[in-house]
Amino acid sequence: MAKSFKNFIAGEWVEPRNGAYFENRNPADESDLIGRFPDSGRADLEAAVRSARRGFELWRRTPAPARGDVLRRVGDLLVQQKEKLADAMTREMGKVLAETRGDVQEGIDTAFYAATEGRRLFGHVVPSELANKWAMTYRRPIGVTGLITPFNFPLAIPTWKMFPALLCGNSVVIKPSEDVPHTVHLLVEILLEAGLPPEVVQLVHGRGESVGSALVEHPDVPVISFTGSTATGAIIGETCGRMHKRLSLEMGGKNAMIVMDDADLDLALDGILWGAFGTTGQRCTATSRLIVHRKVHDRFVARVADAAAALRLGDGRQDKTDVGPLIHEEARRKVEHYIGVAEEQGAELVTGGKRPGGKRLGSGYFFQPTVYTGVKAGSRLEQEEIFGPVLSVVRVGSYEEAARVNNGVKYGLSSSIYTSNVNTAFRALQDLDNGITYVNAPTIGAEAHLPFGGVKATGNGHREGGWEVFEFYSETKVCYVDFSGALQRAQIDNYD
Ligand code: NAD
Repeated sequence: MAKSFKNFIAGEWVEPRNGAYFENRNPADESDLIGRFPDSGRADLEAAVRSARRGFELWRRTPAPARGDVLRRVGDLLVQQKEKLADAMTREMGKVLAETRGDVQEGIDTAFYAATEGRRLFGHVVPSELANKWAMTYRRPIGVTGLITPFNFPLAIPTWKMFPALLCGNSVVIKPSEDVPHTVHLLVEILLEAGLPPEVVQLVHGRGESVGSALVEHPDVPVISFTGSTATGAIIGETCGRMHKRLSLEMGGKNAMIVMDDADLDLALDGILWGAFGTTGQRCTATSRLIVHRKVHDRFVARVADAAAALRLGDGRQDKTDVGPLIHEEARRKVEHYIGVAEEQGAELVTGGKRPGGKRLGSGYFFQPTVYTGVKAGSRLEQEEIFGPVLSVVRVGSYEEAARVNNGVKYGLSSSIYTSNVNTAFRALQDLDNGITYVNAPTIGAEAHLPFGGVKATGNGHREGGWEVFEFYSETKVCYVDFSGALQRAQIDNYD
């Protein structure tokens, strides 16, 4: 009998009030039931927010360096439990162990970065225009933060949101993806073991349409941070706009790698395999378009196709596996839908294109690494986020055309260019309309201490990671202290 997991609400592990659960299964082997998780309802969410308000009153008065100390201990525990967490994550999400170890490492880096920010969290002291008067700012906590996370980075994305939110003195209600609930369960256990006061964090499992939207709509949750698809982000954005909430949206991508005729093709080959097929293409930063200069197109694409065909599909917990399964059957059907679109549009299949045969992979949601050439800029295959191991190759004749194709999609997360010409590299940094551009590296590989996010339909102007995220989770308070003993009028008394 599989274990039934609980929510963490008001300082206790509790069952959902409606008694409903959903199953969490291993995408590499659907007969492997990891556990049953609460299919919570509005009443659970209400209780969590009530408790988080109490948690906020306590936590906001805790000095920021002391809040940072808790996060340092969280980082230490993540280091100790790295292997256990990576294994649990691969079992529920499917990506290979090397990648889930990287996912934990991102959480570790985020914890230690946030811990040290507890001793900074700078404001400004600014000269006043008036004598005997000081002007300064500091960063204040906001309140209860509602965090909604996707399936593809089961640990890293929750930590990107939770750790800066907590460091700034807010309390947290997190609703993790229903596809990967176990990892956040383990993370909350770690936060509690590290000494976080229990009511400062609340974990409510369940579905987006029920408990996720209840969190977004709750009047006592002034801050929402969401990572997921652009379609869901649009729904959340409408509610938050109406309710005047502070909202961070990190959404979809259709990222491209440009390979110029002067590129190091060996390097670009390693980059495209990692960018397109790592995480089975299920990264917001995955390379789903390859824009290649016509002079190197045929020979480069032939090498990409051979190498993609040689990738070994399998259970991510086995050493020899290069590429794991998709997250669920629905995701695999979505990929198959785009195989149909590619055929309709006359793209040329050069490798992959179907489910793998054979018994070994029969009980998981596997799909072959797939490459199409002859993909037209502006076609659906080239424009829409597939979120699977499908690479579309667009042939171009110049840098200008490559930049135009890169920019011609509605998304704007990440881009990359392979070139040995320093001028072309810097032009790309200037021209490519994305939140992140890599030179001679694939579209994936963000580091935790730099801002992360995209433009256009990928985001709404905020960034996760780095120093900018602390601004999202805190409010600027401006303080004036007049010690002149007289009424001094700004804009008037010092200008005749
Ligand atoms: P999703 O939008 O289906 O779900 C994300 C989360 O939103 C889940 O927790 C889900 O339960 C919740 N949700 C769904 N409907 C909701 C609603 N009406 N109200 C509130 N919450 C709701 O996304 P997914 O399939 O888990 O993740 C894949 C998507 O996430 C891709 O589009 C990918 O590009 C994007 N993503 C973006 C980034 C980034 O930083 N830009 C990072 C990772 C993933």
